[in-house]
Amino acid sequence: MSKLIGPFKEVLTFTKTPQKGALEDDKIGIIQNGGVLVDNEKILEVGDFDQLKSKTSEVEEINGDHILLPGFVDCHTHLVWGGTRARDYTLRMSGESYEKILEQGGGIFDSVEKTRKATPEELKSGLIKRANRHLHDGVTTIEVKSGYGLDVENELKVLEVVKSAMAEIEADLIPTCLAAHVCPKEFKDKKDFLIYLEKELLPQLLVKGLASRIDIFVEPSAFPVEIARDYMSAAKNLGFDLTIHADQFHTGGSQMAVDLGARSADHLEASSQKEIELLAKSDTVAVALPGASLGLGMNFTPTRKLLDAGASVAISTDWNPGSAPMGDLLVQAAILGIYEKMSSAEIFAGMTFRAAHALGLGDRGRIAPEMKADLVAFPFDDYREILYNQGKLKPDMVWKNGNRIKHV
Ligand SMILES: [Zn+2]
Repeated sequence: MSKLIGPFKEVLTFTKTPQKGALEDDKIGIIQNGGVLVDNEKILEVGDFDQLKSKTSEVEEINGDHILLPGFVDCHTHLVWGGTRARDYTLRMSGESYEKILEQGGGIFDSVEKTRKATPEELKSGLIKRANRHLHDGVTTIEVKSGYGLDVENELKVLEVVKSAMAEIEADLIPTCLAAHVCPKEFKDKKDFLIYLEKELLPQLLVKGLASRIDIFVEPSAFPVEIARDYMSAAKNLGFDLTIHADQFHTGGSQMAVDLGARSADHLEASSQKEIELLAKSDTVAVALPGASLGLGMNFTPTRKLLDAGASVAISTDWNPGSAPMGDLLVQAAILGIYEKMSSAEIFAGMTFRAAHALGLGDRGRIAPEMKADLVAFPFDDYREILYNQGKLKPDMVWKNGNRIKHV
């Protein structure tokens, strides 16, 4: 039985908004006094509320003073970890660099030690708490990376935690294996470590159905391009989708992402015009992570230049205990937008269908027939209020698969 949800003052549909390039706000596709007809988790039709009323007797009545958008998609997070990195953050505020803290055995290694020690129950409880907070803020699909295990046993433990949490929460979790986050202390040679992952871990992910996506941190201090390429090519040959932490401090990763046909190249704070043009010509989504720029006190991803060159740009939190502890997608997108001079259409596209595309998901991120009925509503009568409030204005209604989340 179909159900009509509405009326909404404005429905921001993004039905025909292009996947790539710069966008003016007239590309949003706004329906005034709109309604959404849903059936069996999917959107059947979107249009004028009064006209849609004739198509069903079941109406979920909204007071008419709300703006409706597609549910947000966060396509890059590291939501499973043990411990805290408040000490690192204090050091960074006093001027110590991320790479220096890593060299001194802090940074990622601190999270690795605490994640290895944590029980699956402890890790799952932290993940569920964070995922539910995200859902309350309108994020209905959340990518989750492993990467604080760094050996077969602990990487499997973390990805099992993600799988088990999926059954208990309403938001969708999309797991990604980032075992190649940094070389663990047990291995002297980075190449040996990647060969170990390729032989011992990747085949198990397929057998156990724990992840269909592989990520790597391409950076001289983590994995240089020359040795990262073999590992990612092997993963591709096994049938995995690829995504790459690229060009955060040094360039090289984005070229590899484009060469290997990765779904996305994420970070790109160090990308120059050469990398920007490469990405713009490709189908690889450029993912900006303003939370990492804010957490490290560094420059933002050059999203204005990427969009103007014709790239598809998504915006994600990079939510992690080290460089991006805030994890608030809307706050970060609003801040990125004012610094990089983005239109509302570009910002919202980056949090919805363009982020979904970075995950290879064509079934969400737009309010259109056949799309998942993942929706967020804000208590205002003008969509411009959302970014104007710089993320402080939160949705007061969220739907996942057509069902209203009760505790929002
Ligand atoms: Zn990351």
